Amino acid sequence: MSGFLNSIGRLRAPKRSPTTPEESTSPTSPNYETMSQNPSQGQMQGAASPGEEKPLYLCQPFVKAALVKGSFKTIVAPPKYVDVNEWVAINIFDFYQNLNHFYDVVSEFCTVQTCSKMGAAKELNFTWPDQNKRPVSLPAPTYIDYVMSWVQRLIDDEGVFPTKSGRDFAPSFPSTAKHIYKQLFRIFSHIYHAHFTDILHLSLEAHWNSLFAHYVAFGKEYDLVDAVDLKDLRKGGGGVALLCDRWGEMGTLEG
Ligand SMILES: [Zn+2]
Repeated sequence: MSGFLNSIGRLRAPKRSPTTPEESTSPTSPNYETMSQNPSQGQMQGAASPGEEKPLYLCQPFVKAALVKGSFKTIVAPPKYVDVNEWVAINIFDFYQNLNHFYDVVSEFCTVQTCSKMGAAKELNFTWPDQNKRPVSLPAPTYIDYVMSWVQRLIDDEGVFPTKSGRDFAPSFPSTAKHIYKQLFRIFSHIYHAHFTDILHLSLEAHWNSLFAHYVAFGKEYDLVDAVDLKDLRKGGGGVALLCDRWGEMGTLEG
């Protein structure tokens, strides 16, 4: 069934940056740091102003802004006769491309100065595993470059995302898909946390919310959303975990 990817013509996403992570680093470990565990480093970052109780993306009318009215559940169901791995691969590829385009737009606001850490909630910065699998704190743009380059390499790898007819997905594909999903989710989290006001200034909130709601609904349907990250977001102040809860209450993610 892998001819389906081929039949729609897999395009190469535009490469945003020449930065390439070390081959030996891979974002496969669920590393994170919470500032509550390390209060000496505790520092707010991102666009939210100190003392602000509720992030804008949780406020009306922004929490409801979307291009698709109603539920996303119906559009995540696989078309008939399409293999689940293939459906997951196609959707991951689309999400990756769309997220890449959005990040292109906000990247001028996401610099090592504005985002010295990969902040995702008031008290949560995601970390990257170094060559010895030790968690290291990276500026958000560096972290995001690493993830995007890593995902691009996987997408280009025939052994991971097969496009030729007759080639099957490796048994490890579901696990790889989950790793990719987790890392792209972290990028969504950072953009919501640190750049939602930039999204608003560009009047992109409906497109942005729609993309993320689709991402979450799809991830829930195929068990791709990382429960540990969601838990850490809640512990670290909420972040997009609260947005997912809110959309769950509104029925946006349900059938
Ligand atoms: Zn940023």
